[in-house]
Amino acid sequence: MPGSAQAGIIDVLIHVPAARFLPTTLLAALAVFSSGAQGPTAAPYTVLSRDARRPLPARVINGQEMFALDDLAKLFDLAVREDTAAGGITVSTKTQTIVLSPGQGLASVGGRLVSLPAPPLRDGRAWFVPIDFVPRALAEALGTRLELRKPSRLLLMGDIRVPRLAGRIEALGALARLTLEVAPVTPHTVSQDGNRLIVRFEADGLDATLPTSPVPDLIQGVRPSEQPSAIAIDLGTKFASFRTSDVPGDRGAGRILIEVLAATTDTPTPTPAAPLEPPPLLDLAPAGGLRTIVIDAGHGGPEEGAKGHDGTLEKDITLSVARRLKSALEARLGVRVILTRDRDEAVGLDERAALANNNKADLFLSLHANASVRPAAAGAEVFYLSLDDYGDEAQRVAQGEGEALPVFGGGSREIEVILWEMAQARYIEQSAALARAVEGSLRSRVPMSPRAIQQAPFRVLVGANMPAVLVEMGFITNPEQEKQLASDTFQNNLVQALVDSVVAFRDLPGGNRTAVPAAGNPRSNEGR
Ligand SMILES: [Zn+2]
Repeated sequence: MPGSAQAGIIDVLIHVPAARFLPTTLLAALAVFSSGAQGPTAAPYTVLSRDARRPLPARVINGQEMFALDDLAKLFDLAVREDTAAGGITVSTKTQTIVLSPGQGLASVGGRLVSLPAPPLRDGRAWFVPIDFVPRALAEALGTRLELRKPSRLLLMGDIRVPRLAGRIEALGALARLTLEVAPVTPHTVSQDGNRLIVRFEADGLDATLPTSPVPDLIQGVRPSEQPSAIAIDLGTKFASFRTSDVPGDRGAGRILIEVLAATTDTPTPTPAAPLEPPPLLDLAPAGGLRTIVIDAGHGGPEEGAKGHDGTLEKDITLSVARRLKSALEARLGVRVILTRDRDEAVGLDERAALANNNKADLFLSLHANASVRPAAAGAEVFYLSLDDYGDEAQRVAQGEGEALPVFGGGSREIEVILWEMAQARYIEQSAALARAVEGSLRSRVPMSPRAIQQAPFRVLVGANMPAVLVEMGFITNPEQEKQLASDTFQNNLVQALVDSVVAFRDLPGGNRTAVPAAGNPRSNEGR
């Protein structure tokens, strides 16, 4: 949709979770509904169209929310007639007629029957219909979109754009993350305006459930902005910078991640209150001990990864092996294992490393299956990060280029880039030792590529603040290996080898973790 920047007539409709049924609106106080009719009244709906916002009273009768036909008639210019002889009610638009029968949960729209959750009811002289009459029968008769949003008490009319927003804030050590679920995906911008961030949407209004802030040092609050179709994030006193990324979601929805970072040196300062996270397992392990391991199932969702001749998808293999590996590591080593995804969904590359960082993981293993134009290419390969590309990479991040890269902003952009980029740099030697342990264990159980250990500038490894490797478990483009990769036996062999390698790495004396033969720097597009 072209980016119309015109100010919508509606702004942000906010619900607080504790009182979802009583949204407060920005531009207009809710009309006070008083009805002469008997029976409990419900909060009114707000009818939103391109040119107006109008209240529509609702009542609860026999446990059903209902609208008065007279109210609908005024709003939508309908003619309502009661045919006392035939015992029916007709509701006419300019071109169509709806026939309702007392006692029947049905409506006939131009001769076509639609079901209603309850029959129309009379109260005094007024007739009431279940609220679903509007989207099911009236929309069709009017030939327009009428979308009923019950939780937010909205009735959207026509082509008005009012995306739904649901937000949550997590305290993650030296950063606070605001996650905004947006449905449908809506173009937006995030910009800093003094001590606030403004998230502005290309929409006529917002239907928002905004969170309260558990991290006042970083995010004081999230509220509607004075700007149209925008929300404001009030920043706390420890704010230093922010970054944002977009993650596609299911069924046309999306997720906006906005991470607010504290001014910090290279050590994250623990936040006193982090109620949404499991208790961090910090510095309590004996030297060489492993407490938390993050397993990264490569790709996911619309991003399928490599594909085999028989249709085997890399994203399915990686998830299957990741789940098996989690069970095996938990059972045999008693460690906490976190998967970057446990279903078929897209997860950003930086988000994967961030998950490991936020959970203070001791190891990060990223699982992939390889692809080659040569069908004969076969065997597992183990990668750790190459630093050769640091200059270019930092440049690209700073300029916000590349679709999977976070967009950085705020005053200390460059400092943040360095911190993010340098995370893995501190662990290159340990990662190399881990790569050798993985390579050694894999070699005893699965075929290895001639280039079994390599370095490459994998994006997913760059931000990992712990030893991290990426394992290409085999070539899915090799017909023989495709069958192997999809088989239980081969997957269990991989899992056994990876468990062995974790044990081997854990048991290395400290000094042995650092002797690393320098490898080449083969280029690869995998995971970048
Ligand atoms: Zn891959």
